[in-house]
Amino acid sequence: MKRERIRVTGRDGVARAMRVVVKVGSSSISGDNAVQIAPLVDALSAAHGRGVEVVLVSSGAIATGLPYLQLDSRPTDLPTQQAAAAVGQNVLIYRYQDSLDRFGIVAGQVLLTAADLESPTHRTNAQRAMERLLGLRILPIVNENDTVATHEIRFGDNDRLASLVAELVQADLLVLLSDVDALYTRPPSEPGAVRIEHVPFDDDLHDVVIGEVGTGLGTGGATTKVAAARYAADAGIAVILTSTPQADAALTGQVVGTFFDANPVV
Ligand code: GLU
Repeated sequence: MKRERIRVTGRDGVARAMRVVVKVGSSSISGDNAVQIAPLVDALSAAHGRGVEVVLVSSGAIATGLPYLQLDSRPTDLPTQQAAAAVGQNVLIYRYQDSLDRFGIVAGQVLLTAADLESPTHRTNAQRAMERLLGLRILPIVNENDTVATHEIRFGDNDRLASLVAELVQADLLVLLSDVDALYTRPPSEPGAVRIEHVPFDDDLHDVVIGEVGTGLGTGGATTKVAAARYAADAGIAVILTSTPQADAALTGQVVGTFFDANPVV
């Protein structure tokens, strides 16, 4: 049962999107930036209130778990990463639910592995569960199931997970939120970097120099964001890449961040 997608062609189409996947990165919502959870939830709840079906893909399990394990940086060994994720995922969901309570919205936790999306049975189960959650007006919060994901089998990063989830639920729009407000022609810290407002579908971005490697808290960076944006755009889903404080502006169709046109023929 494939959902009939609403085509978001350009910024002025954003307000018509009725199913939106929003992805937020670890450094935006953990540590000192945990205060950004409330304004992010404000933006998601406002969209929910407009009748939009919202799915949040949130990283941050490992980063949120660190202080509980007396760690001050992301561990390099897998079992400690998994332990941190097990502790942090719980705290993270609690923080989201606590914030969503202000709007009477209930969250549903969905933890997936790459193998789940490749296995036809698991994929169909995940799809059905997501449909039902959205039908019940629950706000699904998705993360990788870190305690069973190993280096070899992981999604790689949650940007990729978000693009796969957007495809899974046949979203109208994918919003990728991070600490950087847009895609630039070169790393924004470098002189001469110019903000890119719009990426037409046939633009291969060959002039863009991507050097950013992320914050050390999560695993993503501009490279994984552009790859995820391209994947979703190829699948017919428009994408906005912007910073977490701009979530509401992005979801209401204001001209923020970088807008990637979707494949017009999918
Ligand atoms: N699943 C990991 C976590 O929640 C993050 C993966 C990523 O940063 O892309 O901590």
